[in-house]
Amino acid sequence: MAVGEQYDVLFTGGTVIDGTGAPRVRADVAVSGDRIAAVGDLAGAQAARTIDATGRIVSPGFIDAHTHDDNLLLVDPDVSPKTSQGVTTVIAGNCGVSLAPLAPGRPIPPPLDLLGGPADFRFPRFADYVAALDEAPPAANAGLLVGHSALRLDTMEDVDLPAAADEIDAMRERLAEGMEAGALGFSTGLIYGPNQAATTDEVAAVAEVAGAAGGLYVTHMRNEHDGVEEAMEEAFEIGRRAGAGVVISHHKCAGRQNFGRSNDTLALIERTRERQAVGLDVYPYTAGSTVLLPDMVEKAERVIVTWSEPHPEHAGRDLEDVAADLRLELQAAVAALQPAGGIYFMMDEADVRRIIAYPHSMIGSDGLPHDRHPHPRLWGTFPRVLGHYARELGLLTLEDAVRRMTGLSAAQFGLTDRGEVRTGAYADLVMFDAETIADRATFDEPTRPAAGIDVVMVNGAVVYEEGRHTGNRPGRALRR
Ligand SMILES: [Zn+2]
Repeated sequence: MAVGEQYDVLFTGGTVIDGTGAPRVRADVAVSGDRIAAVGDLAGAQAARTIDATGRIVSPGFIDAHTHDDNLLLVDPDVSPKTSQGVTTVIAGNCGVSLAPLAPGRPIPPPLDLLGGPADFRFPRFADYVAALDEAPPAANAGLLVGHSALRLDTMEDVDLPAAADEIDAMRERLAEGMEAGALGFSTGLIYGPNQAATTDEVAAVAEVAGAAGGLYVTHMRNEHDGVEEAMEEAFEIGRRAGAGVVISHHKCAGRQNFGRSNDTLALIERTRERQAVGLDVYPYTAGSTVLLPDMVEKAERVIVTWSEPHPEHAGRDLEDVAADLRLELQAAVAALQPAGGIYFMMDEADVRRIIAYPHSMIGSDGLPHDRHPHPRLWGTFPRVLGHYARELGLLTLEDAVRRMTGLSAAQFGLTDRGEVRTGAYADLVMFDAETIADRATFDEPTRPAAGIDVVMVNGAVVYEEGRHTGNRPGRALRR
């Protein structure tokens, strides 16, 4: 720094965890414009604003590797469930579900309705959606995926069939347009209605366009229950044929008969990584959440209703109680509540811990921001990993926990100069208290903000501080 120059912001006296997994170090962090200008002993440096970080950790802002925030970025530009946890970048467009490209005026079937109503789907080209983010920037950055279900609904006569050759061509064109507009890759949700009929050949043919552009193949696999390993093999095959790195979304082994099976699935990932690029994300809970599906209800130990269009009053209640009140059998109640969403208790805590502890697992919330009574992962995922799993259980070190939500995710998604605290990187930072950081959102009270988050900065601007959103909107649509 030249003599007389002053920094914009200086975090003094804190401990830096840099996102690479390296041990923490005592260091000051200086920010100029949207970048980190210096890291180290900066005693005597001048800054327009000094933030006392004594007794606190300064780390890269968290990257939520798996979100459905496509529409949240536009309708809640504070991105409140995420920035309040220290998240500075979200990866949207997961599970085959993206807000674009989709010509306006089409019916929006589940699970696309998780993102909003028909009026929210108003971007015929992917570039139109990216432009909307550019014109009205949110508080957090966004990396974007193009979803297969959106492509199918936009191009196909009947999504209950495998795509015909001309429909595959039309999807490839739209995906190419999305990749051109900066998308990070292509996502599928092969368990879901509009995506289910896609054959391996169809997915590989479309995914090829993402691979050719250097993008990823990100998948909510066809099966996360008894057929999980076959589904993994399909994902790997698609990645090989498409020439794309694979990310397995929200990895889990669902259903009591599959408890413990993550020993095998992680071993399969480990073997496969020797010959092709494979990553994965995980959320720190034994319950999942999505639209209310008869098949999922059948397999779950317990179901909580998260929303219901005809019966909003039942959001937050156990499906069994709702069925009893309605004097209906369980599946009849499911039908009566449609369209609706649910939380499904279906995993083994030991599997969840094993997957979190696996060194290549990224942390992704999979939060559903438009649900009336959402799964607590929406507001609690990152502090839960840092507080409950790292500090309380000692499942992983704080440094490693931070790496899985910063440096690892930035490398996986190709986010240049993000996910690390180092000179020259973007100033996406979070200052938190390692002793008190904790998730406060529960299944009963799912929207309680996390504890222990002091300051959240995106591209050099503070977006969240002392429990309040500042109103700054420095986020960017990140291009591949
Ligand atoms: Zn999913």
